[in-house]
Amino acid sequence: MVDRYDVAIAGAGPAGAQCARDLATRGYDVVVLETESEDEFPRQSNKSTAGTFPSMMSSFGIPDDVVMSYTDDVVLESPNEYYASYQPGAVLEFAEFKRFLVEDGRENGAEYRFDARVSRPILDDDGVIEGVRYNGDEELYADVVIDATGPAAPIASALDVVDLERENQAIGIEYEMEGVEMNHPEYADLRRAMMLRLDHDIAPGGYSWIFATGEDTAKVGICYIQNDRHREFAEAGKTVDGYLDDWVSRDPRFADAEQIGEKVHRGSAHIQMPDQMHTDRFLAIGDTVPTIDPLWGEGIHKGMKSARAAAATVDRCLTDSERRLDAESLAVYERLWHRDVAPRMKARLMLTRLLYLAPNERYDRFMRDLRRTDENTLEKANQGDKAAMAKLLHLSDVPLLTKFARERLDV
Ligand SMILES: Cc1cc2nc3c(=O)[nH]c(=O)nc-3n(C[C@H](O)[C@H](O)[C@H](O)COP(=O)(O)OP(=O)(O)OC[C@H]3O[C@@H](n4cnc5c(N)ncnc54)[C@H](O)[C@@H]3O)c2cc1C
Repeated sequence: MVDRYDVAIAGAGPAGAQCARDLATRGYDVVVLETESEDEFPRQSNKSTAGTFPSMMSSFGIPDDVVMSYTDDVVLESPNEYYASYQPGAVLEFAEFKRFLVEDGRENGAEYRFDARVSRPILDDDGVIEGVRYNGDEELYADVVIDATGPAAPIASALDVVDLERENQAIGIEYEMEGVEMNHPEYADLRRAMMLRLDHDIAPGGYSWIFATGEDTAKVGICYIQNDRHREFAEAGKTVDGYLDDWVSRDPRFADAEQIGEKVHRGSAHIQMPDQMHTDRFLAIGDTVPTIDPLWGEGIHKGMKSARAAAATVDRCLTDSERRLDAESLAVYERLWHRDVAPRMKARLMLTRLLYLAPNERYDRFMRDLRRTDENTLEKANQGDKAAMAKLLHLSDVPLLTKFARERLDV
């Protein structure tokens, strides 16, 4: 007997599992294929710091039991300055969060197959996807296939829907630590904060972070894109693990701190402008697109929003009497994506490049400017508002902007 579903989703990350929840709730036959085994899930894919905000928790009905700690502030640090703003958030236990999404989807009727590594699409005579091949020669058919495997993207790549470029791949690693001095006299009070630090000596061409998970416990990590910016500031041969160890050994806040057990989270995501994200009977969601926020790496909420946009699109097409699932009918997904998931992506990517191009001294000035301007300026600049971005620029930034323009012309 042929395995046949309305929708087949590859990958049980936040995007795939949320999409399954939405589709199952609407009564569709949906199956999720996940490469990891169920007893250990998630193991390798337990990669995220999982800092998020109340809007995500309420929009997607995420229960308090997957929260490790609630935070009050977001703190930005530079080598010698910092800026704190009141912005309540939550740091999730990522593994529990992933398991919750799976269980909730199942309760609503979604089927999960673990130990199921998707490798490639099954195509009909016209070259249109009609299913997926997994674990070598196993086959499964569906009206719509969704790739939610994150940066692995086996189906989206085979269909030439996405081209995730190595040059745009950000890599990150994090430890869970205890004994961290969260209110060190020389730094901001991080006891209830998510802190991001811009400092090329610690994370060349990227940033590092401390997210509070308790009185003296925190998630401590670092990430950067291995591009020219990174190479300009980097030490030859030093790895991302080396940079994190170096920071932990030098920063006085970690003087008495220790890594908790073997708790290391690591992963990657691409920071680039998405090109296409669908074709006939196929959609890509989450980090496969990629959907992650270029500036601060917030990928959970964005990925789940893209999942919701995909589910709404599929629902609309399948409830139509003609059940048309060609690229033109599914194009509504891309419109929803650009409107609701990641508006002004181009401007935000520009801001990202500009930010990581700046030298350490400029970061100190950036923090002083933020303290001087009203809170809305950062929020608006963060959303890609050019007027707000201009407020944070100075005449002395002309060489930086010229360098940025020259690099863009080189592309
Ligand atoms: C170190 C680090 C810290 C981060 N911190 C934050 C943060 O604080 N806040 C935030 O919002 N975001 C953060 N992110 C980003 C966030 O984790 C991702 O954007 C998010 O997990 C993307 O979800 P996804 O479902 O698209 O993909 P993924 O989370 O990558 O999930 C993909 C799933 O597909 C499975 N899979 C892979 N290949 C196959 C295959 N061939 N067949 C079947 N299954 C497959 C994987 O096992 C996995 O379960 C962080 C990322 C990293 C690496």
